[in-house]
Amino acid sequence: MIYIKLQGHIYEYDIKEMVRQYFPKENIQMISDLSKASKNELIIINGLKVEKDKYKFYTIFQKKNQILLKEIMQLRIPSFENDKEKQRWEKRKLKVILYYSMEKQYSKSLPWGILTGIRPTKIVHKLMDEEKKEENIAKVLKSQFLLSNEKIKLLMDVAKQERDIVYPIDKNKVSIYIGIPFCPSRCVYCSFLSSVIQKNRESVKEYLQALYYEIKEIGKYINKHSLSIESIYIGGGTPTVLKVDELKELLDILQETFNIDEIKEYTLEAGRPDTINKEKLIVALSHGIKRISINPQTMNQKTLQNIGRMHSVEDIKKAYFLAREIGFSFINMDLILGLPGEDLKDVKRTLKEVEILKPENITVHTMSVKKGSKLKERLEEIKLDQGQKVSKMIEVAQDFASSNGYYAYYLYRQKYMLGNLENVGYCKTGYRSIYNIQMIAEKQTIIGLGAGSVTKVVFQEKDRIERMPNVKNVEQYIKRIQEMIDRKLSLLDSLYCKI
Ligand code: SF4
Repeated sequence: MIYIKLQGHIYEYDIKEMVRQYFPKENIQMISDLSKASKNELIIINGLKVEKDKYKFYTIFQKKNQILLKEIMQLRIPSFENDKEKQRWEKRKLKVILYYSMEKQYSKSLPWGILTGIRPTKIVHKLMDEEKKEENIAKVLKSQFLLSNEKIKLLMDVAKQERDIVYPIDKNKVSIYIGIPFCPSRCVYCSFLSSVIQKNRESVKEYLQALYYEIKEIGKYINKHSLSIESIYIGGGTPTVLKVDELKELLDILQETFNIDEIKEYTLEAGRPDTINKEKLIVALSHGIKRISINPQTMNQKTLQNIGRMHSVEDIKKAYFLAREIGFSFINMDLILGLPGEDLKDVKRTLKEVEILKPENITVHTMSVKKGSKLKERLEEIKLDQGQKVSKMIEVAQDFASSNGYYAYYLYRQKYMLGNLENVGYCKTGYRSIYNIQMIAEKQTIIGLGAGSVTKVVFQEKDRIERMPNVKNVEQYIKRIQEMIDRKLSLLDSLYCKI
């Protein structure tokens, strides 16, 4: 257990997340009355004081009534344009003093410095928007966010790759996400509310009816407001778990509703090879799907069983070659590094297999132990590496990518990732995924349809994003479909129907 006591500020979330970077397995609790803390536990006091024209930021570590470390940083009060800017600055400095203290106390630096957010490239885009030179952006990342040189390079490379897709921003251009929350079985690391299809077969029909209704209502709105759709992403769950006629019906409805020929990118997640067959792939291709994702996660048979996937390595290869044979020329493969029981040799074996397949995209995830996953429940019995080994795996994957002609084009981080590292999308030249880039950059409105999907409306002038999640539960989604459509339309109205 670790206690955190804040003094002079209320930035609980930021400070807690920063402490979590150093103590991923610990129970971290906020405390207001120090006399209630157990004497044997570590207490971290993080605070700020304003004294005349100066800010004083400090962190104190104490245990058993003894001060282990005290770090202070004094800075002149800068001029702030508004409260938001002031808060952002204060938070950053509080994290810096906390980071310095933890680095000193535990002799350990973090590659991502004080960055705890999911979308670190947004910082680079903001600095690029201010027309800062590359070397100055790198300096900011180093001095203000304390990033390692490797992560600075990665971040800069990725931001440059995203730039011409994200900009110029066009408010009338949107992307659409469609969620099919069913899977053939549940992976141990999954935290999505995806239902195992065999146990929920009777809900599928009703679910699809509700989804079709939502698609059509949003389609009417898009046409009425002359919005253009840049990309459509059908994800989940595993959309290809649907029967051929169900998949065909869904794609027919999308074709009738949206102008598919004008869409730049149309993706279907076909994540689990045990859900793919020739008929489904032909249906997908004939309906204009250009990009599919076949996700091995690993090419080691034993691990596939361990993580709850009911298919073999051979199934992955067969599905992949079948997709090629049918005519798919844009395939992504997701991999996860740090899976339970895997070491560097296993990762190298996976990469060797992927090297033979040569997909256009490889998305390399770092294992993340999410709340609600079976893995989280079984954490006691499963040994997971918390950092160094995974860092090495990432390095090997990076080398593999560059020596096979791939480059990093999008990046995001998640909570509870092993070693607090990152997920990176790699691509061959000419094969960046528009949807992935837009989803992470958050400069484009994305309309989510289906249970668990999230609509994000971007108010560019106000530098504000508003989210509207659909309910995750399938039964609730079916029951409350009208309410969700109404809320979504009203949110969209606040952007597109200004008086
Ligand atoms: S395939 Fe994806 S959505 Fe389905 S159970 Fe596995 S991780 Fe979850």
